[in-house]
Amino acid sequence: MKFETKAIHAGVTPDPSTGAIMTPIFQTSTYVQASPGDHKGFEYSRTQNPTRQVLEANIAALENGKYGITFSSGLAAMDAIMKLLRPGDEIVSTNDLYGGSYRQMRQVYENFGIQSTFISMAQAETIIPFLSEKTKLIWIETPTNPTLNIIDIQAICKIARAKGIWTVVDNTFASPYLQNPLDLGADIVLHSATKYINGHSDVVLGALITNSDELAAKLSFIQNATGAVPGPMDSFLTIRGIKTLHIRVQRACENAAIIAKHLQSHPKIKNIFWPGFESHPNHAIAAKQMRLFGAMISFDLHEDTFEAANAILEKTHLFALAESLGGVESLIGHPASMTHASIPREERIKAGLHDSLIRLSVGIENVDDLIADLDAALG
Ligand SMILES: *Cc1c(COP(=O)(O)O)cnc(C)c1O
Repeated sequence: MKFETKAIHAGVTPDPSTGAIMTPIFQTSTYVQASPGDHKGFEYSRTQNPTRQVLEANIAALENGKYGITFSSGLAAMDAIMKLLRPGDEIVSTNDLYGGSYRQMRQVYENFGIQSTFISMAQAETIIPFLSEKTKLIWIETPTNPTLNIIDIQAICKIARAKGIWTVVDNTFASPYLQNPLDLGADIVLHSATKYINGHSDVVLGALITNSDELAAKLSFIQNATGAVPGPMDSFLTIRGIKTLHIRVQRACENAAIIAKHLQSHPKIKNIFWPGFESHPNHAIAAKQMRLFGAMISFDLHEDTFEAANAILEKTHLFALAESLGGVESLIGHPASMTHASIPREERIKAGLHDSLIRLSVGIENVDDLIADLDAALG
């Protein structure tokens, strides 16, 4: 099956008891047993829920994976991965990643004896000197957030695999429509389904996908043993959102390409980051591993201050000032004071995330309206 067909059909079958074409919301905590242990495969909804099961099968198919395991948020999904590790283990992570992922590594798991090192992975080989006997995990986010660097997934996975190190790819920014890291050698793919996968800004949900029987067994055990599962209603909404994933992401990427090219020559803008530009340092890798160049754009200003950024952020009407991304509506944000406020300024600047950096999540409105809104705000 091709992607578009999988988005609509994979894992989804009409409800056998009624013929309902849409997966029912099994809003139940428990299931009646005929006699102890004699049940229909469902005992308790932390462990198994039919709505969640459909979502997990569907998401797995989108990433060409055998197993999908879902959580109550993207960070809860990350937390399950972190619990694969033990005190003394180490992580090598990309340095411009989602602020909440950085915070979990630094402020939660360092206390449990798990050290993370944050480095630029723009060149795959640069990771080699950072790997040791203790390194258990390589953490990749690509395109990176918010500076939209591109990391060569296949090259990093090859280095990691030779040393028996697991590679995790946070694929939230690309979505499974644009990029499938398991096909490039990754061990686990993570999604904040809150973003493109659900796509309607009305659910917080996370997912892990893997082809490894061993990792799937461990992660499913952690899912049940620690209990951060998504509810049936959120699972249903996400199944529903996925049915248009391909159309939404396609249009958002088309809009973003037009907007990026339009903003490129604006006199107030200093640097604009979008992997579709041929001048982007890793454009060739993006072209190789992504189907389109994504719908996230960021730019900084010649006047590199919070105030200069605020003047623009307060003036857009269609681009709503909000955290998050990947919904049908366009959003504008200021990473330094919003999503990435938990990263110290010095680390932030080192990763190219300057004070005036503005991030756009381009939605699927009419692109002429979006451009008019940005032009008016930029002045
Ligand atoms: C939002 C986000 C997360 C965290 O997901 P939640 O669903 O908000 O917990 C992780 N990684 C990236 C890249 C994100 O954008």
